[in-house]
Amino acid sequence: MKYRVRFAPSPTGALHIGGVRTALYNYLLAKQTGGDFILRIEDTDQTRFVPGAEDYIIEALSWCGLMPDEGVGFGGSHAPYRQSDRKEIYFQYAKQLIDSGHAYYAFDTAEALQAQRELLEAQKLTFKYDATVRDQLDNSLNMTAATLEQKLQQNEPYTIRLKVPKDETILVQDLIRGEVHFNSNELDDKVLLKVGGMPTYHLANIVDDYLMKVTHVIRGEEWLPSTAHHVLLYRFLGWEAAMPTFSHLPLILKPDGKGKLSKRDGAKFGFPVFPLSWTGETPEDSFIGFREFGFLPEAVVNFFSFFGLESRDRARNFFHRRTNRGIFYRENQ
Ligand code: GLU
Repeated sequence: MKYRVRFAPSPTGALHIGGVRTALYNYLLAKQTGGDFILRIEDTDQTRFVPGAEDYIIEALSWCGLMPDEGVGFGGSHAPYRQSDRKEIYFQYAKQLIDSGHAYYAFDTAEALQAQRELLEAQKLTFKYDATVRDQLDNSLNMTAATLEQKLQQNEPYTIRLKVPKDETILVQDLIRGEVHFNSNELDDKVLLKVGGMPTYHLANIVDDYLMKVTHVIRGEEWLPSTAHHVLLYRFLGWEAAMPTFSHLPLILKPDGKGKLSKRDGAKFGFPVFPLSWTGETPEDSFIGFREFGFLPEAVVNFFSFFGLESRDRARNFFHRRTNRGIFYRENQ
């Protein structure tokens, strides 16, 4: 089997060193195994799109020497690699999920959902679009086929939501974390397709990993909770056998260990948190990079590869077992 990994950033600003480290781990696994390293740009959230961010990502990876084998700016047989250029691909999968009873059309307006939210907040509860409330909301589970047909004919705006099953334990196998169990009653019915037809991260991510034949997903641990939804999507789309292996990397913390290293911590602690300088709209949103600070890329990559001794050892042990070769050290070191 050829290992295929991807780095899938969203172009929402400069690429933080946590992102570079994620790219590095993916790159190392690809290089160690003779596999492919893909750069996919996940820009389905157009409200968070920042001009220049995509070029920054490509330049940062190139400066660090983490050159993708395929991807935006690099070509490849699974192009296009920018999700907004793949918009037409996703609808058929959302439709497939509806036809198999695993997703539904939701016509609730933003105002109606906001009203629900406020109603529950007044009772100190949180609103979640899930199995406990979906029977009372404006969706295709609660209307006749004729009404649904009419709404679709009239182009009434809709989203498509995943129908999360009740009372199930969803198992996520993670190479670093081991077995992680999720109670499906805790999960909301995630939007898969937004009003206007743009997919959400969840749908696009799964469809693309499947179509791009990704074998291993290595990403930050903030994505671990979403993986429960992703496991359901693989199952409902009939792709379970092709589901990639997941590894969720611990986040890079502040020097005092209290919380995630943020972009503003660079100024606070006196070291860069970005590979290259970034000029944002305001001085507060502009940051100096390792490159401009005078570091050599080899030194920066070496430094990044040693972040988090414990996680490194856990990951290394795993990869040793899987591939019989370390991705961080050669066996004899
Ligand atoms: N687009 C996600 C991000 O910005 C990617 C998460 C993933 O790798 O699945 O981090």
